[in-house]
Amino acid sequence: MLVLGGTGEARELAAELVGHGIPVVSSLAGRVARPRLPAGEVRVGGFGGPDGLAAWIREHRTAAVVDATHPFAERIGASAVEAAARTGVPLLRLARPGWTAGPGDDWHWQDTLDQAAAALPGLGERIFLTSGRQGLAAFAGLDELWFLIRCVDPPDPPLPRRYEVLLDRGPYEVASEVALLRDNRIDVLVTKDSGGEMTAAKLTAARQLGLPVVIVRRPRRPVTETVDRVEDALAWILNR
Ligand code: NAP
Repeated sequence: MLVLGGTGEARELAAELVGHGIPVVSSLAGRVARPRLPAGEVRVGGFGGPDGLAAWIREHRTAAVVDATHPFAERIGASAVEAAARTGVPLLRLARPGWTAGPGDDWHWQDTLDQAAAALPGLGERIFLTSGRQGLAAFAGLDELWFLIRCVDPPDPPLPRRYEVLLDRGPYEVASEVALLRDNRIDVLVTKDSGGEMTAAKLTAARQLGLPVVIVRRPRRPVTETVDRVEDALAWILNR
C-alpha cells in the first residue's frame, strides 16, 4: 500500500495497516521541518509529477494507493489520479468532510486566499491568520491591518507589514483559542476549509466571541472514489 500523507488521517490509516500486518509506505512532501511520522515505512519528497509517481508505483509493485493528503494539496491529488489511471492501480481518496457554519456563525466564504485578503478591510483591523505558511503573499499589501500568523514552520516573505508569528501545531482546545483571540484583541479569523477536529476549536471560539470568519473554499479535485473516514479506507483495503 502507498498512502499519500501529511494529515492526521493518513497517520491513523498507516497505524491501522501496520496493526493489520499490511505492508505500507507513507509518503510525505517534506514541507515541514519536523513532521509527525506515521507508523511503518516512510519516504519523503516529491515523486516528480504523475510520471514519477507512476514509475514509483511500478517499481515498488504497489497494490493500491490511498490519497490521504490535505484537501488543499491540489497537485499531488491530480498526480495520484493520473498515475493510477496510467498504471491501472486502484486509487482511493480519503478526505475529511469540510466544515459547515452553524447558528451564530458569521462566515464569509471566498474562493481563494486573494479573495480572502480582499474581504478583510472593513471586517476588522486585527486578523488571526491560520491559513498556513503557503500563500501568505496574498495578505502582503494590507498595510493598515495587523496579523497574528499561526503556522507550523516560520513563513517566508513577502508577508504583511505588521505581523507577529506564532509557531504552533494542533490539536487546539476551545478555551485556549478563546484566550488567544481575546489576548490579541482579534477582530477577524481567516482559515481554509481544512475540516476535521484538530483545528476546529478556533471556529467555536470565534462563534463564542461573535467574530466574523473569512473561510476559503476547497479547490476542486479530479473525481475519484472517495471516503471520509479512516475506517472506510481500511475496509476498502481489507476487502481487496
Ligand atoms: P501540493 O501543492 O499538492 O504539492 C506540491 C508538490 O509536492 C506535489 O506536486 C508533489 O511533488 C509534492 N507532494 C505533495 N504531497 C506529497 C506527498 N504526500 N508525498 C510526496 N510528495 C508530495 O501540496 P501542498 O499544498 O504543497 O502540501 C504538501 C503536503 O503537505 C501534502 O502532502 C499535504 O497533505 C500536506 N499538507 C498541506 C496543507 C495545505 O494547506 N496545503 C496542510 C496540511 C498538510 P511531485 O509533483 O514532485 O510529486
